[in-house]
Parts: sequence; structure tokens; C-alpha cells
Amino acid sequence: MPILPATPEAIRQAAQALARGDIVAFPTETVYGLGANALDARAVAKVFAAKERPRFNPLIVHVPDLAAAELYAVITDTARLLAEAFWPGPLSLVLQKRPACGIADLVSAGLDTIALRAPAHPVAQALLAEVKLPIAAPSANRSGRVSPTTAAHVQAELGELPAMILDGGPCPLGIESTVVSVIGLEPGLLRPGALPREAIELVLGRPLARAKANHRGASPGQLAIHYAPATPLRLNVTRPEAGDALLAFGPDTPDFDGPTRNLSRQGDLNEAAAKLFATLRELDQMGATAIAVMPIPAHGLGEAINDRLQRAANRG
Ligand code: AMP
Ligand code: MG
Repeated sequence: MPILPATPEAIRQAAQALARGDIVAFPTETVYGLGANALDARAVAKVFAAKERPRFNPLIVHVPDLAAAELYAVITDTARLLAEAFWPGPLSLVLQKRPACGIADLVSAGLDTIALRAPAHPVAQALLAEVKLPIAAPSANRSGRVSPTTAAHVQAELGELPAMILDGGPCPLGIESTVVSVIGLEPGLLRPGALPREAIELVLGRPLARAKANHRGASPGQLAIHYAPATPLRLNVTRPEAGDALLAFGPDTPDFDGPTRNLSRQGDLNEAAAKLFATLRELDQMGATAIAVMPIPAHGLGEAINDRLQRAANRG
């Protein structure tokens, strides 16, 4: 699909594509985003596959405004203060996710938190108004490359992978949003970005705390914000034992009487990624001695799936 100028008709088509589970690139005031319906785990998995992310980093979910944000997250007084001051705009807030709010677990990599932002770009706003769904969107580049600030950059990065690239011209700000966590007592800066720290501190009336341990950096197992199952994991298991709960993959599963969930009977890694976090939670609640995980291939989204499973297994 070519680049389409962001006319009202193209925006309508983009909204339809998102609603049927396709991925669409669109401009925001920061950088171009690669969007998916945040309620649809399969659509979100396509975003990770297109970016070739070796890890499941949590994605920012785009909403039109604070009222929409309330559907998915608990808005504390501090969060409200910041949203009222800076939304729509280049500020992403990490908030407590509402249980059963419908956002796919893969969006926040299994965390109980969610990053929300109301973008100011008119095309992003028009798309959100048309689609009436929350849009999970990281920057529309391959993993490890610079963020795209024009539609041509997106095409150079992702080629035919998005169903559509909406062209809204160059992004006015050109750097990513500032990410602030308002979980816990002290708001903390998780990622510097287009909204200066000073502007935020002025509104808060105090300095922003240093970012706490987040999913970046640090070694496996140290990542405080990562969801890890309480039940120990064993990886690459071909013969599950009594007391195990089996996390299976593919059509050929071992004979086993205990609780079993298959990430994808067809052996489809995108489907497996879409189900991974919700399935881990489910198996974690079965009172098993261990979660036995069948081997998962290493290609495509398998790399990110294995990375996540290894972290969960090494938790100590
Ligand atoms: P990108 O996907 O390139 O837009 O980057 C998303 C940024 O949002 C990353 O730097 C993440 O650290 C941050 N982020 C998104 N969701 C969360 C979350 N639930 N907790 C902490 N950080 C988050
Ligand atoms: Mg990025």
C-alpha cells in the first residue's frame, strides 16, 4: 500500500484498516507511529513483528483525551494535573491500568501499568475520532533505528508492512514524547523527550524523581516493573512432569494430563506473541509446581518471546 496524503477519505480508510486488525502508520507531532487497535492482541503482535523487536517493550497507547484515558487507566490527581496541563501534546503518562479494561496484555508486555498519550497532531486526532478505539503505537521504524519523521522515512523503514502510511507532512517536533511515570509516590522521568523536564516540574511544583528501575538496561531478573509469574518456569521442556502446568506451542505436544495451554496450535509465532502474557497469567494461577515451557523457535517474534520467557525463568 502506498503513502496516502492524509485526506478525510484516507483517514476513514485508515480507521477501517485499524478496526479490522491491520497496522497503519500515521503522523503525530513527535514522530510517525505504527498503530494497531490496542484491544486486539493479534494486531499488536503485527506491530512487534514489523519492527523486528527482539524484546517486547511496552507500547504507548494513543487516546483522544483525558476522558478516553479514564476508560483504561486510573487517573490520579497528579496524572490529572499533568494531563490537563499538557494534553493533547508530547507527554506520555505511565498509569495504573484498569483491570478488565480490554487493552491487550501484549501492549504493556504483561505489566499492570499502561502508558497513555493524547497526541496533538490533527491527523492523529482525526484518526482517533474516526476509529473510536485506543491505538497502540510505537515509532514506525525497525528496532534499533532512528524514529521516522516523514512518511518517506516510514516507507524506507517498513516498506509494504503497514496496510497504509498516512502522510501528514514532516512531524513538527521530530523527537519522541517525554515519558513520565505517575505510579507510586513520586512522579518519575522514564524517558526525556519533546516536552522539557522543566515544563513538567513547573506544573508539579517540585523536581521530577529519577526514573526507577524500568524495563530498559539492567540485567535479566532485576527489572522491577516487569511482570514475572510467581510459579517457576522451566524452558525447552519436551517431557512435562507431574505437578507442572504446560505452556505448549505448535501441533506436536507431549502426552500430558495436567493443565495445558497452547500458544498456537498452528505454530504461528504472531499468534503466540499475542497470547503470551495473558496465558502466563492464567497458568500462574493454577497452583502448579512449575510452568513447563515447550521449545519455541527463535525466528521472527520467537526471539522476543524467548527473551521474555528467559527473563521470567531467571527471576531467581
Ligand atoms: P516507543 O515504542 O518508541 O514509542 O517507546 C515507548 C516508550 O514508552 C518506551 O521508552 C517505554 O519505556 C515507555 N513505556 C511504555 N509503556 C510503559 C509502561 N507501562 N511502563 C514503563 N514505561 C513504558
Ligand atoms: Mg521507538
